[in-house]
Amino acid sequence: MLKGRPMQQRRPEISVPKHTRKLFCPNCSQPLLNERSLLVKYWRAQDTVYYCYCSHCAWCGEIVDNARVVISELDEGS
Ligand SMILES: [Zn+2]
Repeated sequence: MLKGRPMQQRRPEISVPKHTRKLFCPNCSQPLLNERSLLVKYWRAQDTVYYCYCSHCAWCGEIVDNARVVISELDEGS
C-alpha cells in the first residue's frame, strides 16, 4: 500500500485578458466567464468579434467591437 498524501487535482490557471473580463450576456446579463460558458475571440477585418455561449440562458451569438462605424445623416427635411 502506498503512503503519502493523496494527489490533488489542480485546475489549470487560465489567464484572462483584461478586455474580456467585462463581457456579459446581452440576453440575461450574467458574466460570460464561467466554467460552462464559451467565449472565443477572433478578428474580422478590423473588428474584434466574441463568439459567446451563455450557460445561464443558453443564448449564443456574436458580440462585435467595431473598430470604425460609418453611418449617414438623416435628411433634416423629412
Ligand atoms: Zn445569458
